[in-house]
Amino acid sequence: MKIFKGKGVYGAAAAGKISVFKRRDIQVKRVKVDDTDAELLRLEAAKAEAISQLREIYERALKEVGEANAQIFDIHIMMIEDEDFNEAITGTITAQSVNAEYAVAAAADNFSQMFSAMEDSYMQARAADVKDISNRIIACLAKADCQSESGGEPVIICADDLAPSETVTLDKDKVLAFVTAHGSSFSHTAILARTMNIPAIIGLGDDFLREIKDGDMAVADGFTGEFILDPDEKTIAAAEEKRRADEEKRELLKKLKGKENITVDGTKISIFANIGSVDNIGSVLLNDADGIGLFRSEFLYLENSDYPTEEEQFKAYKRTLESMGGKKVIIRTLDIGADKQADYFKLDKEENPALGLRAIRLCLTRPDMFKTQLRALFRASAYGNLGIMFPMIANVSEVEAALELCEQVKEELRRDNIDFSENVELGIMIETPAAAIISDRLAPLVDFFSVGTNDLTQYTLACDRQNPKLEQFCDVHHEAILRLIETAAKNAHANNAWIGICGELAADTELTETFLRMGIDELSVSPSFVLRVREKVRSLDLSK
Ligand code: PEP
Ligand code: MG
Repeated sequence: MKIFKGKGVYGAAAAGKISVFKRRDIQVKRVKVDDTDAELLRLEAAKAEAISQLREIYERALKEVGEANAQIFDIHIMMIEDEDFNEAITGTITAQSVNAEYAVAAAADNFSQMFSAMEDSYMQARAADVKDISNRIIACLAKADCQSESGGEPVIICADDLAPSETVTLDKDKVLAFVTAHGSSFSHTAILARTMNIPAIIGLGDDFLREIKDGDMAVADGFTGEFILDPDEKTIAAAEEKRRADEEKRELLKKLKGKENITVDGTKISIFANIGSVDNIGSVLLNDADGIGLFRSEFLYLENSDYPTEEEQFKAYKRTLESMGGKKVIIRTLDIGADKQADYFKLDKEENPALGLRAIRLCLTRPDMFKTQLRALFRASAYGNLGIMFPMIANVSEVEAALELCEQVKEELRRDNIDFSENVELGIMIETPAAAIISDRLAPLVDFFSVGTNDLTQYTLACDRQNPKLEQFCDVHHEAILRLIETAAKNAHANNAWIGICGELAADTELTETFLRMGIDELSVSPSFVLRVREKVRSLDLSK
C-alpha cells in the first residue's frame, strides 16, 4: 500500500482499477521489414479495429449529442476506407519495405498537407481529420488502444494532465475518478470533473506516474486529495463507507428539492447551474436548479474536429432550452483560447495565451464565425427563455460591437422570416478587473452581469489559474476580488441590471452570506452544488 498526496478538487471517494490515460500521439519510427505481406495483414487488422472503434463511438455520440454531431465519426470511417489513402499506405509498405506505422504516418502527412493547401475552408479543416484517423490506426497497430473509448468496467483514469478536450470526450459512465500528476484546481478539467460529478485529484507529482500501471487497484479520495495505490481491504472498505456517506448526504439534500432559495428573514436568490454540454441537463434537472446560469458553449467546439455548423449549434441550444421548459438558460458565446484550444481554429502560438486573443476578442476578429453562433442562438431563442452573454469583456467598445452584431443577426432573421424571441436578455461576464471598475459604464448597455470569479481571480491577483504552484499565493477570498464584485453589484442595480456569479466561488458556502448582503441576484454553480448552496441560503438570517 502506497499513499500519494495531491489536491482534491472534487469530493467523493472511489475504489477501483487504474487505467493509465494514453494519448494517441505515439512516436512513429521508420523500420525496415522483410515480410511486407505480413505488414499488409497487420495494417488490415488495425484498420478493421479502428473502424469498429469508430462505429462504437458513432453510436454513443448519436445518443449523447445527436446525429449532426455524430456524423463526423461516420466520415472518419469513410476516410479510413478511402481508396487513394489506402493505395498511398500500401504503396509505401511494398515499395520501401517499411513498417505499416511509418507508411500510415507518411500518407497522413501528405494528405493533410494537401487538404491544408486547399482554398475551401471546409476542405482545409479535413487535415485535422486525416491526422485523427491516422493516429487511431497507428494506435491500433501499436495496440495502444484508448481504454476510455473501448468500453469495459469503470476505472480510475490516471494521467500526467488532461486537457479539457480530452476530458469531454471520455465516457463519463466509465470513469470512477480523475487523478493527475499535474494540473490546477482552477483549470477547466477540474471544473468539468465537478460538473460531471466525478471525484478528482490533481498534483500527485511525477513519482505517482512512475509507480502506476493499468489494472492496479487504487483508492482516490477527492475529499482529502489522497491516492492510495494497492490499498488493503480495510482502506477499500473505508473508501466505500465514505462514498456511501456522501451519497446519504446527497439523499438528505434531495429533501430540499422543490423548496425556495430563501433566507430565514425572507431574502430570495436564484440558484442556477453551470453546464458544458447538453448531456449535463439531466443533472441540472435532477438537482432542481432554477435555470442554467452558464452554458460554456465552447465545449460544443472542443468536442468537434471542425467548426460546428449553425444547424448543429441551433439543435444543441434548442434542445437545452426545450429541456429547461421556460426556465432561464444563459448561453455564453464562444470562449476559446488560453487552455481551451482546438486545432482547427489554427490559433497563433502566444507567449501569454491567458492574456491573448481569446473569447470575445477572437470572436470580434472573426465576425463570420461569431455571427454563425449568434444566428444559431437567436433562432433557438424561439424555443425557451434565452439569455446570451459575452466573455472576457474589458472595454465598452467590445460590448457595443457585440451588441451591434446581435442587431445585424436579428435584422437578417427578420428579413428571412425566421422566428426568434425579441426578449433575449443580453449580458456580459465580469471577469477582468477593468470590467468591474468600469461597470458603471457597462451596466447601462446590458440586462445583466455574470461574475466569472475564476478569471477575475487570476487577473486581479496576477496568478495564472493553470499553474498549481501559485495556489498558496492565490487567496480566492482576497478582499480585492470581493470589492470588485461589490462594485459591479452596485453599478448593476443602479442601472436596472441584475447580477449573478458563475465562477467557482459561487459555490463557496463560506461566502454565501457575503454575496447575499451584496445583493447578488443569482448564483450559478456545478449542478451537484445546487442543493448544498440552497441548504446554506435557507440557514442564513440576514436581519442579525
Ligand atoms: C470564470 O472565469 O469564472 C468563468 C466562469 O469562466 P471560465 O471558467 O469558463 O473561464
Ligand atoms: Mg472565464
